[in-house]
Amino acid sequence: MTVASGVQAYVGIGANLGDPEAQVRESFSRLACELPQTRLTGRSRLFRNPPMGPQDQPDYVNAVARLHTRLEPLALLEGLQAIECACGRERDGTRWGPRLLDLDLLLFADQVLDLPGLQVPHPGIAERDFVILPLLELASGLQVPGVGALEQLAERFDGASLVPIVEPGEAVATAEGRG
Ligand code: ADP
Ligand code: MG
Repeated sequence: MTVASGVQAYVGIGANLGDPEAQVRESFSRLACELPQTRLTGRSRLFRNPPMGPQDQPDYVNAVARLHTRLEPLALLEGLQAIECACGRERDGTRWGPRLLDLDLLLFADQVLDLPGLQVPHPGIAERDFVILPLLELASGLQVPGVGALEQLAERFDGASLVPIVEPGEAVATAEGRG
């Protein structure tokens, strides 16, 4: 099933096992290549995010992707879950659990859905700085359906716990600039 002209959808990406940064970068490539009738149209920066609560777990790396898709929401979720599985399988040799990569469908056009296995907007979106702040990089002016304006949601967060991960290219540019 397809949506005739296509819509914008946003995907929340998170990882904290294996090599989280590599997992998140790989997921962008997979989102770009492996979803039928879908294009990757934007990617936020990656953010390192210390775990809340128990500290005996690795930092998270989080990001958000913007897609243009002609898939129906459930078909898109299926595609996201297939990518989660593909990433998990590659590193799931012995002890690691399956949660090497979490892909959440945050928003699907302006739709509000409460289906078995799929709620959109993703529940809890408004309380998560690691979702709202990367989303803001891609979607300024957005209204989160049933929740409110993205800019207003973002005002509640100072971003102090989110550390942007510097791209290798950016680091080189800075060093050259200083020279
Ligand atoms: P988490 O809530 O930590 O992301 P999982 O990734 O294991 O947990 O997802 C658990 C279930 O959440 C999935 O089986 C999926 O069907 C359901 N789900 C409901 N709404 C969504 C959504 N918007 N995006 C992704 N999964 C969703
Ligand atoms: Mg999930």
